[in-house]
Amino acid sequence: MTLQEIIEKDRKYYMNTFGDRTPVCFSHGKGISLWDLDGNEYYDFLAGIAVSALGHSHPAVVNAICDQAKKFIHCSNLYYIESQVKLAELIVENSCADKVFFANSGAEANEGAIKLARLYFKKKGYSNKIEIITLEKSFHGRTLATIAATGQDKYQKPYSPLTPKFLKVPINDLKAMEEAICENTCAVMIEPIQGEGGVNPTSYEYIKGLRELCDKNGILLIFDEVQCGLGRTGKLFGYQHYGVEPDIFTLAKALGGGFPVGALCAKDHVAKTFEPGDHGSTFGGNPLACSVAYAVLSTIINDKLCENAEETGNYFFEKIEAVKRKHPVINEVRGKGLMIGIEFSRPIAKEVNKKCFENRYLLGTVGNSIIRVLPPLIVTKADIDGLIEMLDNVLSEFD
Ligand SMILES: *Cc1c(COP(=O)(O)O)cnc(C)c1O
Repeated sequence: MTLQEIIEKDRKYYMNTFGDRTPVCFSHGKGISLWDLDGNEYYDFLAGIAVSALGHSHPAVVNAICDQAKKFIHCSNLYYIESQVKLAELIVENSCADKVFFANSGAEANEGAIKLARLYFKKKGYSNKIEIITLEKSFHGRTLATIAATGQDKYQKPYSPLTPKFLKVPINDLKAMEEAICENTCAVMIEPIQGEGGVNPTSYEYIKGLRELCDKNGILLIFDEVQCGLGRTGKLFGYQHYGVEPDIFTLAKALGGGFPVGALCAKDHVAKTFEPGDHGSTFGGNPLACSVAYAVLSTIINDKLCENAEETGNYFFEKIEAVKRKHPVINEVRGKGLMIGIEFSRPIAKEVNKKCFENRYLLGTVGNSIIRVLPPLIVTKADIDGLIEMLDNVLSEFD
């Protein structure tokens, strides 16, 4: 099909939840490159929104999929699954979690976290402790409970009444959190670095203070690491920047390198809340998803991709400084490692993004004044040089 034919069929047959998409259709990719139907090469600095951590068509991912698919794809959780225990072991041995449960997406992993936190207190005899405090501008997914947890009107308005008992407070404001916690609170759930909210990092003091507040009040601390986890910020998990461990954390996006898989991870004292029948999934933890995720996570660890994310991320922050001085339209550059947001002083993000696309660079936007950079973790300094040069040129048009 030609691009035009695909666009027409999309309009005719696909629910219009994505509006006018960027007018391109890719046929294949390799490393950080993608090629469209006409054979044009693009540099992927969005990675499917922090998903394609190893870039495209990485041999570790391709081989894991092919090898496992030849054996079998699915097997019910009624039986023991080898790749499931291998992946669980790899996550536990490299994180603060003692136990994991596999889901199929970030939202689903977060649903599991919400259920686990509520049940934890219910089984201790507190039927009132069901409230969860989250942050303004947060994003936790698109299911009914996770949009209620999300701190953004645009996702919530169309679906009210929302799942009750989610409270919102501003980011990096310990006092607001302290005042919001009450006898009905069961957990605080946050992204260590907000992604969809505009790349907003939490401060060191805030996370330290949150852990202390949660301990003081005997409530659970949940980190949504769906976007910031798995090497993106320069450490395997976002919480490792703060020297603080959550009771529960969730993973998804990068975990399967593009194959759908999510994980709910918890410390033993919380994880043991789930007893036979309390939670489940048909597809979650299937042999194919777990084999791929095992390949992705071991590659991130063995190929030192956290270190690469830190190094190339620092290199980007260093290089963007000169661009920022030259183009005062850049207001602020935020983030950690390869989780980066560039905020402009005017609402030009969509136009800038369009110009980048015309230069065959794929980036993302958040709202009207922020573009974000989330390249695969295999990105090189030479790739960053290309991006910086392109941004410098594009922004000349906006001075
Ligand atoms: C993307 C994202 C989700 C939702 O993940 P899905 O796989 O789309 O359900 C949840 N939390 C955060 C922080 C995310 O970035």
